[in-house]
Amino acid sequence: MRPAILFPLFAETRTLAGVGPRLEKLIKEVAGPRLVDLAFDLPIAVIDRSYRPKLIEAESGRIATVAVNVLDHVPGFDKRQPYKVRCSDETAIVELVFFHAKADYLTQTLPPGSQRIVSGRIERFGGRRQMAHPDYILDPAREADLPAHEPVYGLTAGLPSKVMVKAAKGALAKVPNLPEWLDPTYRKERGWPDFLDALTTAHNPVHENDLLPAMPARARLAFDELLANQLALLLVRTKMRETKGRALTGDGHLRRKAIAALPFRLTEAQIAALAEIDADMASDARMLRLLQGDVGSGKTVVAFLSLLHAIEAGCQGALMAPTELLARQHFAALSPLAEQSGVRMEILTGREKGAPREALLDALAKGEIDILVGTHALFSDDVAFRNLGLAVVDEQHRFGVHQRLSLQGRNADVLVMTATPIPRTLALTAYGDMEVSRLHGRPPGRQPVETGVLSAERLGEVVAHLRRAIEKGARAYWVCPLVAESEKIDLAAAEERAIELKAALGDGVGLVHGQMKPSVRDATMEQFRTGKISVLVATTVIEVGVDVPEATIMVVEHAERFGLAQLHQLRGRVGRGPERSHCLLVYHPPLGETAKARLKTMRETDDGFVIAEEDLRLRGPGELLGTRQSGQLEFRMADLSVHGELLAAARDDAKMILLRDPELKSPRGAALRTLLYLFGRDEAVKYLRAG
Ligand code: ADP
Ligand code: MG
Repeated sequence: MRPAILFPLFAETRTLAGVGPRLEKLIKEVAGPRLVDLAFDLPIAVIDRSYRPKLIEAESGRIATVAVNVLDHVPGFDKRQPYKVRCSDETAIVELVFFHAKADYLTQTLPPGSQRIVSGRIERFGGRRQMAHPDYILDPAREADLPAHEPVYGLTAGLPSKVMVKAAKGALAKVPNLPEWLDPTYRKERGWPDFLDALTTAHNPVHENDLLPAMPARARLAFDELLANQLALLLVRTKMRETKGRALTGDGHLRRKAIAALPFRLTEAQIAALAEIDADMASDARMLRLLQGDVGSGKTVVAFLSLLHAIEAGCQGALMAPTELLARQHFAALSPLAEQSGVRMEILTGREKGAPREALLDALAKGEIDILVGTHALFSDDVAFRNLGLAVVDEQHRFGVHQRLSLQGRNADVLVMTATPIPRTLALTAYGDMEVSRLHGRPPGRQPVETGVLSAERLGEVVAHLRRAIEKGARAYWVCPLVAESEKIDLAAAEERAIELKAALGDGVGLVHGQMKPSVRDATMEQFRTGKISVLVATTVIEVGVDVPEATIMVVEHAERFGLAQLHQLRGRVGRGPERSHCLLVYHPPLGETAKARLKTMRETDDGFVIAEEDLRLRGPGELLGTRQSGQLEFRMADLSVHGELLAAARDDAKMILLRDPELKSPRGAALRTLLYLFGRDEAVKYLRAG
């Protein structure tokens, strides 16, 4: 149960004065549904209203607070014209500009002849000074109402800054004084304020520097968040480890048969990963290992050989895929190998029903089936293995804690495969409860892809190059990204490009996009696969799941608009066959710094892990994995691209804490429980016996 001291913070935002259902919805969008979410939603900027120039010296584009006399009102001559109020000090004139203004309101707040303090952004147009929609218009008597410094929060359409500031203030007022959960010596060493101080300071920046993640207040909050995360992961891990594993060793007779049947030799990376897995399985602690590698890096073979190891040890194995389709693919790909190694492999998904399913479950319970491939249906309540030794979970691109949790209580070893090249720091947060093996480098048998970066001004050369290549029988992708606000405009751009390319290259040009009927799209893809057309113009729909080994050219237009991970995925579409491949990244100048860095990275490396690390550095983790949905990596105050060092420290601290006080019973332990609840790690607290 959440401690009572936190109740007020976990109230919904509509409990704040002035927040009704409409605002609640908007606040939920930017921060979250509860006051605690508001409290953890830190300002992204600060407005300094202490700049108080005379009008004549006011810098254009800067927020200024000026004392003025109201001269006169100049209503717009029609509705589309702005309403202007002219004011002056002793040095110059400024026009206050209002669109869609209510004249009554303005005559009331700015009566001619009155003195006013106005604060807002001053711009200069030609020789005239203007301030559009001042943030503040005050009678000099109420000058104290003007904040010298004002936090700026992330906003959404319809949510005014002032409202958000007020809501954040309201939430902050509800934050209680909490018992300190940090080690006092460590806190002192770091020079960190206590939690409430830190939060208050973080919400009240007075200078740009106060927004820096390294500032003590922000660093402390980041650490708190990371500590809660690491503590929770360790608790889950401890729980999973509590079900003892078994020492599984094989004599290698099945694996030898399988390896002999492989049409290729295992790579160094595969051999190394297998050695790590074998060692884990041989120990009597339960294996929780993550196998990372790009799509096509050869994870499936490693998983299969690990399953054979479990069977040699007298157990059964399971291979779980995220979708029915993938389960069937795995099953089809591995069937010949299973046959040649003399093991019985079956498949179980939602589609298997009735008598055949009964028979299958019966054989499974008797131990007649060695490997069962399937979806999460594998772990339905009525599925009983006789002796499950190893469960392999293929997550592809998803994070599936729930899948791992569904394995809880069984004592099988667990191997999770993921194709997302997660940077080390992120792996630690997402999978802090697991050991990691990586299949580095280029997938087996793949040619390196030569990558060129060039400006759109040279598009003509690209087309000429393409023409020569196609004459020699090459096949090429041409990607037009989603650029404009409107899909229609994008589509028009892609269609126009297809027409231009047809004019330049002849009829062998096809177009696929997301708005197409799937049947038409599939037919066009098929034409490309079989070589009936040689250029496939596409919006980003081809990013996933196209495998045409004969394609050797990838042109990406507006490459500067793509993230690194996306570019990496796109480039991965070529270089799949024996021919040498090229990737041309076409950008439209001018290039921003981040885009420049991205394209440089693409030219220099094709290692998914290096690219992921770089992506993290350039973009930050939230965007990186599209993890918002999973809720798992979503940090509100920690930023892993800068707080990486704190993450390691939090991990060490969490380990030390649980070593000394595994049930969190000490006074500090009690404070740490509050920390876990504060950051919504209620699940983890449940794992504590003395909860
Ligand atoms: P992943 O599961 O990592 O996406 P797969 O295991 O499906 O990758 O491997 C992709 C392809 O590479 C498969 O056709 C597989 O047979 C092949 N492959 C795996 N290991 C090797 C290797 N060592 N040498 C050559 N080809 C390999
Ligand atoms: Mg695979």
